[in-house]
Amino acid sequence: MPVSMPPTSPSSAAHYVGRFAPSPTGPLHFGSLVAAVGSYLDARAHGGQWLLRIEDVDTPRVVPGARDGILRTLESFGFAWDGLVRNQSDPERRSAYQAALDRLTAAGLAYPCACTRRAIAAASPHASVDGAPVYPGTCRDHPPAGPGPFAWRLRLPAAGSPDDAISVADRLQGAIAQHLAEDVGDFVLKRADGVYTYQLAVVVDDADQGVTHVVRGADLIDSTPRQVALQRALRLPTPSYLHLPVAANAAGEKLSKQTLAPALPQSRELAQELARALAFLGQQPPAELAAAPLDALWAWAHEHWSLARVPARRSIVLADD
Ligand code: GLU
Repeated sequence: MPVSMPPTSPSSAAHYVGRFAPSPTGPLHFGSLVAAVGSYLDARAHGGQWLLRIEDVDTPRVVPGARDGILRTLESFGFAWDGLVRNQSDPERRSAYQAALDRLTAAGLAYPCACTRRAIAAASPHASVDGAPVYPGTCRDHPPAGPGPFAWRLRLPAAGSPDDAISVADRLQGAIAQHLAEDVGDFVLKRADGVYTYQLAVVVDDADQGVTHVVRGADLIDSTPRQVALQRALRLPTPSYLHLPVAANAAGEKLSKQTLAPALPQSRELAQELARALAFLGQQPPAELAAAPLDALWAWAHEHWSLARVPARRSIVLADD
């Protein structure tokens, strides 16, 4: 049973709507717990709502059972989300992503692309912020022939134009600045296999759910200018952003299923794990709470949450890993 603060009333939460948006590609691990704890405490500290969205838009990557496991783990930790859980795989959400893509296409801001990865790599001048080659723009002015299926890309403002430079004031990390045309290139909104991309889905969902404050791991910080560019192209509001440090292993890799992060405990030691997440975020529960039950720790965390204590770093190596 959820043991922490009850959902807030809509009137008190009107100015702050936060969310936690895990991808069901594996069990919740310590790194995702940190993002959940930070976004939850920040939302509640502002009297805000905290929504839960399962980001299963990339269906081939979804691991069967992971969604239910994540929900069970969040419940056992005592998280209490507002409203119903939203799933990106719902047909109604896919219609919303397609409608956004149709709007962009009608405005001349999205175009079909038939380039293979190999062709892009061969023609690309340099790597993007993600390490993948910057799309060289091949299909931008020369639409592909034939029936498809094609990928769809966003037509970014031209390099050097005022809208090319995006700067987002992160609440913790300072300015996140990119020149999109050079640092990213026209990025994919829908893949040739029909899957809508994370960038499109997250922008459409955050706007549709009225999210005002995004609090998530800094592994996503480089995606933020892309999301702002999409919000501008779709004439959607830009939420406030806060990127928390992510937990890394000794090799400097983000904890994830790929780096074999252990799944979180299901029943025992939950309070210790929550205390560890709070300490990771710079919060300092008093020593006498070390053996306290989960709800006592949550009560302390709600009362003492302080963004000023969170380290303004993109990643922190876990001592034990
Ligand atoms: N689904 C993403 C993840 O699990 C988070 C997306 C977001 O918070 O914007 O890494």
